[in-house]
This record gives sequence, C-alpha cells and structure tokens, in this order.
Amino acid sequence: MPYSESVIRRAMERLRLSAEEKQAEYEAHLAEAYEKYPRLQQIDRRLRESAAEAVAASFRRGGDPKAAIAALEEENLALQDERQWILDASDYDEDFLDDSPVCAVCGGRGWVGAKMCECLRELCRQEQKKELAGLLAGNERFENFQLRFYPDVYDPALGASPRHMMQLNLGACRRYANNFRKGSGNLLFSGATGLGKTFLSACIARQVADLGYSVTYVSAGKLFSDYERVKFSGADDQELKKYTDCDLLIIDDLGTEMRTQFVVSALYAVVNERLQRQQATIISTNLRPEDLEGRYTPQIASRLLGCYQLLSFVGTDIRPMLR
Ligand SMILES: [Zn+2]
Repeated sequence: MPYSESVIRRAMERLRLSAEEKQAEYEAHLAEAYEKYPRLQQIDRRLRESAAEAVAASFRRGGDPKAAIAALEEENLALQDERQWILDASDYDEDFLDDSPVCAVCGGRGWVGAKMCECLRELCRQEQKKELAGLLAGNERFENFQLRFYPDVYDPALGASPRHMMQLNLGACRRYANNFRKGSGNLLFSGATGLGKTFLSACIARQVADLGYSVTYVSAGKLFSDYERVKFSGADDQELKKYTDCDLLIIDDLGTEMRTQFVVSALYAVVNERLQRQQATIISTNLRPEDLEGRYTPQIASRLLGCYQLLSFVGTDIRPMLR
C-alpha cells in the first residue's frame, strides 16, 4: 500500500512524538519514584555500575573472570529482587516504571527491516483518512444515498426507471468499495451535475481508505493545475507521485476544466500510466461517453471506454431536494 511521502512523513513524525512522550513520562515517573524511595536510585546506580564491572571483568587478563562475573550476577539478582519488593510495596501501578518501547515489534522505529510495521501502518491509515477528511463533508456513506430522489417512472430511453438504474449503480459502487484490492478495475461515472456522482465517489473513497488503502481524491481542475505547476515551474515532481502511486485515484468533475493541449496530454499521461501499472482509478464526468473523443482524443476516449466500467447517472438534479 504505497502511501504518499507526505502521509508516511506525518505518520513517522507521530510515531516519533509518541516514543518521545512515552520516554518523558517514564523519566518523570522515575524521578518521582526516586524522590519517594531513595533506595531505588541507589539500586539503579549500582545495577549500572555492576553491568560495567561485568564487562570489565570479562576482558581482564589473569584471575578468574568467571568467578567475578558470577558474583556480580548474584548481586544483580538480589538488587533486582529488592527493587521489585520496593515497587510491589508502593502504591504504583504495575507499569508505572515501564520503559519498554511504544511498539514491541519494531522498537518504535516503525520498520522491521524494509517492511513497514503494523504500528506505523495504522498511523498511515489515520493520516490518509485525515487527508481525505478535508475533502469529504462527513456523511458520505452508502446508506445515506437517497434513492427516493430519483424518479420511479419507466423511461423508454433507459429501458428502466432512473431509480432502478441508480439502484444498480449504488450496488456496483458498494461492491467495488467492499471488495477493493490492488488492481481493482476502473469506474467511469457519467451524467449531468447533481446526480450523485461526487457523493458516491466520496463513499468509495472513505470505504477504501478504511480498508487501509491509499486513496487520493482530486478535482480534475486541481489535478491539471498541479501537473502544470510542476511542469512549468520546475517544482519537485515528487508532488505528483500521490497521483501515480496511490492504490485508488479519484478524479472528480472531468470536463469542467479549461481544455488546453497541456490538459489533454496530462490526462492521457495519468490515465495511461495508471492502466499500465494496474492501479485503480475512478473518474466522474458530466460529459457523455460519446463526447469524450471530441473533447479529448480518440486514444483517451478508447482507454476510458475500453478499460473503465461505465456507470451512467440518470434522473433529475437532486441538489434542490437536499436543501
Ligand atoms: Zn511497530
């Protein structure tokens, strides 16, 4: 699950802070305990000294290092017992002087070799959702999708009622989100403004992020302006990696941007690269499928119509009914 660099950076920063906090808490507890039980401090000091003496003894020539080390070990055990008695007799909780790392698996580093530890992965999931939270209003869940706003009247042009068509779309989106995995296919939402395309794509974004995948949600206008800025200002193109590397990219409102030669080639680059890497993409557009070729290019139209599952959004603008 390739999270963007910024998500990983923020997650690692949080892990570092929680390790620091835990260490600071331990030190404060220790100072408190030393104050109350000065003998504890003496014991700890002696334990450190005897550890150093054991090392020194093992390197010493002549004499019997084994006997010296055994004596130190015995003293050590006695000191540890005494330390434990003091703590047992105190009214401190058992973990009051716990100095274990925040994560026992990775020691709080977040990585075990090159593999991301589950503790860091969980923080990435949370950071990823925060990133989406800025774009989501909060109620984007499939169960909040209001089918009743779509006419339940047979439409001969559709061969069904708009409500029935939307029910099928809702089911398809739900299945897509629930079964999401790397390489899940692509969806193309086509239909006029106000028919729920953005809402359903946001429902998918939320659900897929909840499953622990990296999701980037962006309007077409923002996507193209980011590409343009990087291209023409020579800015760091790492910024664009979130569009090419994420498990699911959702491009909202394709067709509302200014159409320039640059936009056409950037769109082709994104769509094509993600197809080649078998990374899932959802595009919503107010363009009709037959308009794609004229607006962009035959190559783009053939990729969108050939490699994306088309969901047609039908009905009447539901936004006035939501107010
Ligand atoms: Zn860990």
